[in-house]
Amino acid sequence: MSQKVLLSGIQATGKLHFGNYFGAMKQNIDLANSGEYESYIFVADYHALTTVKDKNALRESSLEIAAAYIACGLDLSKATLFRQSSVPEHTELAWVFNNVVTMPYLMRAHAFKDRQFKELSERLSAHPRHEALMKFTLDFRNKVEEVIGELIFKDKGGLEKYNEYGLTEEEINMCISNIININNITETVNVGLLDYPVLMAADILIYQADVVPVGADQKQHVEYARDIAGFYNRAWNVEQFKLPKDMILESVATIPGVDGAKMSKSKGNVISLFGTDEEVKKAVMGIVTDSARPEDKKNADENNIFNIHKHFLDEEGVATLRAKFENGGYGYKEAKEELLATIMKWREGKKEKFDELMSNPSQIVEILEEGGKKARARAQETIGQVREQTGLIA
Ligand code: ATP
Ligand code: MG
Repeated sequence: MSQKVLLSGIQATGKLHFGNYFGAMKQNIDLANSGEYESYIFVADYHALTTVKDKNALRESSLEIAAAYIACGLDLSKATLFRQSSVPEHTELAWVFNNVVTMPYLMRAHAFKDRQFKELSERLSAHPRHEALMKFTLDFRNKVEEVIGELIFKDKGGLEKYNEYGLTEEEINMCISNIININNITETVNVGLLDYPVLMAADILIYQADVVPVGADQKQHVEYARDIAGFYNRAWNVEQFKLPKDMILESVATIPGVDGAKMSKSKGNVISLFGTDEEVKKAVMGIVTDSARPEDKKNADENNIFNIHKHFLDEEGVATLRAKFENGGYGYKEAKEELLATIMKWREGKKEKFDELMSNPSQIVEILEEGGKKARARAQETIGQVREQTGLIA
């Protein structure tokens, strides 16, 4: 039996952060280093083009991702580390997939909806009633999202909840589609962003990946990949793609940023893995908290400092930290200083290795090129089959 295939990518959109580490990199490194998988880990530079239009930034970020994986202990004899753009077959497969997915299906993706919302917010930013308008829009959108989640993605009992309307699934989907179309108000979101889940499906399926460890924010995209595998198989009446499983470890669902929202490269709310000591310190000391006094008892689970710090600790460590928050007498300044100390300890050795690699990028480029060749050979096998099945070959 051949080994199971593991695949994971990170967008080259900026500085890596602890959300990326605990949400994806750590599992990938552990799983890859176990030697149980044929592992493909890539820098998603094609994906990054949807937002990054600065060639130096894209290049720098790509190198940093590779350097970070190596510095954090990825065993290169057990994993293929490469740039997505070294394997143009990803985009070829995405193009084929584009012909079996519909526009409304893509417009339901969370990431796309978030971007629409952000654009709307920017457009209305000068409006005197900006805040109230956006609050209403967001609340309304969330209600629509909830219904869509229940019906299309079969969350929380799915269709049964709505059987009082006596509609079929198809009819309900039609109603949802109408709501979405009314809601379709954005003008400048690029096609790449809309198509993001299709390219991600191609990333996964081109290697016939079995496991794709991702953070909760990417779960929907893995579901899309499963769907798209099915759409392809049905359209050409073949058994080409097996359906990938996602792997989200319960405890690392979503790491909050310093402002409490999901830590995200593009949101500027990160604690970076390998920024300077000053940058890390500034981010940690700037974590948003409520106005509780040091002596107050605090709800650990609602606290950003706790919710970040806990990921660095084992079970016992988490319990001890929780007690400090809940017993009172643990002020935010002290809590932040302890988190900072934990982070600095985590960085020991890794930061030096990262800096050393970044000061000699040719070494990273070589590793990525080597990885690209290996990945490409694998991807070409799949593309060969796809070309034949679709008639792209005589
Ligand atoms: P962007 O803002 O450009 O989308 P990002 O910070 O969300 O960047 P991605 O490249 O989209 O990072 O994601 C890389 C991996 O890190 C994915 O597997 C994603 O699930 C995971 N990830 C990103 N942010 C978090 C987070 N805050 N908590 C847990 N996992 C995360
Ligand atoms: Mg993201």
